[in-house]
Amino acid sequence: MVDNSTVMKDGICLECGAKKTDGLSCYEMFGFPLVWEHKDPELYALHFWLVFCYMIQHPSNYTEEGYKHLVKSWNGRDTLRRCSRTC
Ligand SMILES: [Zn+2]
Repeated sequence: MVDNSTVMKDGICLECGAKKTDGLSCYEMFGFPLVWEHKDPELYALHFWLVFCYMIQHPSNYTEEGYKHLVKSWNGRDTLRRCSRTC
């Protein structure tokens, strides 16, 4: 089971290399645009891309199968475009 936490060591994300911002981890920061887009349909139209960007930088938060699917989707952008319109 995936727990969606971000592993930070000495204030640095072990997956993407980002520094904590205002004491917040990558995952904690990820929550801000999720709330923001939830209140704005135009932003929510980009939800797939928001999650995609976070996910590809933090693969340990997802199952191995899910991550492979993501990478495969990126390689076949036609699939990704179809999904971005419906997700
Ligand atoms: Zn990170």
